[in-house]
Amino acid sequence: MSKAKPKVAFYWCSSCGGCEESIVDLAEDILKVVAAVDIVFWPVALDFKKKDVEAMPDKSIAVSFINGGIRMSEQEEMAHLLRRKSQLVVAHGACAHLGGIPGLANFWNKDTIFRKVYQTTVSTDNPGKIVPQEKSVVDGYELTLPRFWDTVHPLNDVIDVDYFLPGCAPHRDLIINAVTAILEGKLPPKGSVLAPNKSCCEDCDRNDTKPEKLTIKEIKRPHEVLLDPEKCFLAQGVICMGPATRSGCGERCIEGNMPCRGCMGPTDQVYDQGAKFLSAFASILDTNDEKEIERIVSTIVDPAGTFYRFSLPSSILKRKRMEAVK
Ligand code: SF4
Ligand code: SF4
Ligand code: SF4
Repeated sequence: MSKAKPKVAFYWCSSCGGCEESIVDLAEDILKVVAAVDIVFWPVALDFKKKDVEAMPDKSIAVSFINGGIRMSEQEEMAHLLRRKSQLVVAHGACAHLGGIPGLANFWNKDTIFRKVYQTTVSTDNPGKIVPQEKSVVDGYELTLPRFWDTVHPLNDVIDVDYFLPGCAPHRDLIINAVTAILEGKLPPKGSVLAPNKSCCEDCDRNDTKPEKLTIKEIKRPHEVLLDPEKCFLAQGVICMGPATRSGCGERCIEGNMPCRGCMGPTDQVYDQGAKFLSAFASILDTNDEKEIERIVSTIVDPAGTFYRFSLPSSILKRKRMEAVK
């Protein structure tokens, strides 16, 4: 009798679908994955139901890849269910790893988000000011929706996570390496981020173009300047999160002549990616004059969204700015 293949599950929480796409993007390599494992749950692609997972023995799934942040009660419930049924859980992508782009909503809360989305955007036509209810009755039937939380959480806020596959979405090579390491039982210590522990700058072809003393007098946005495709973005006055970001993505944005926005998250030595970048940034401002520093910093459009684009829910800021807004 042939040996049973390891069972694998994929699930999405508060996610854009890009991480699901990253599995499909394995192209012909997905056939090797499918040949090596049994996919037992993948709601976006296969018709398995929650009750199928509930019926599986605990720890019978070798590994669950869960993408997206945790923003609703249903996602928390599914994360706990998959944790119980799985030997390993991998936080797949920046949203599960750090909270990601949906985590920027942590600058607001449920009420302000619902008011904006369902009532006040220019394209909203909702004279009854109706917002989703957890329970409603239609034609005598009670309908329920999951609870929408005030706060987006990274996956490891709600369950124990074994490994983190970083990136928005993770590079295909990182996914292949992770699957291979799991199949061969050659995994690093629990809690590891499955990508090189060095900064984007260390792998960047433009690193040599940084002047010995890098200074910035003025911040420009990428569309405001004709970008030199060979030169370090910071040396061109354009914010690039490379110094505070982990490598392993193939420097995809930089190859496309766009600065790094930080989706791989920080390296192991860095606790807070935004704070790390701010400290690097402060050291290259070409002035000690407070007013001039204020002027330069005031030209950064949306500083919190720039420095914490992918990591707000995991940062030291967390919801402090929301508290200030309240
Ligand atoms: S990490 Fe990026 S691609 Fe993946 S779900 Fe989040 S926003 Fe989408
Ligand atoms: S700051 Fe950006 S462009 Fe400059 S070396 Fe680092 S990653 Fe490359
Ligand atoms: S260059 Fe930066 S933002 Fe772009 S994919 Fe790599 S880590 Fe993510």
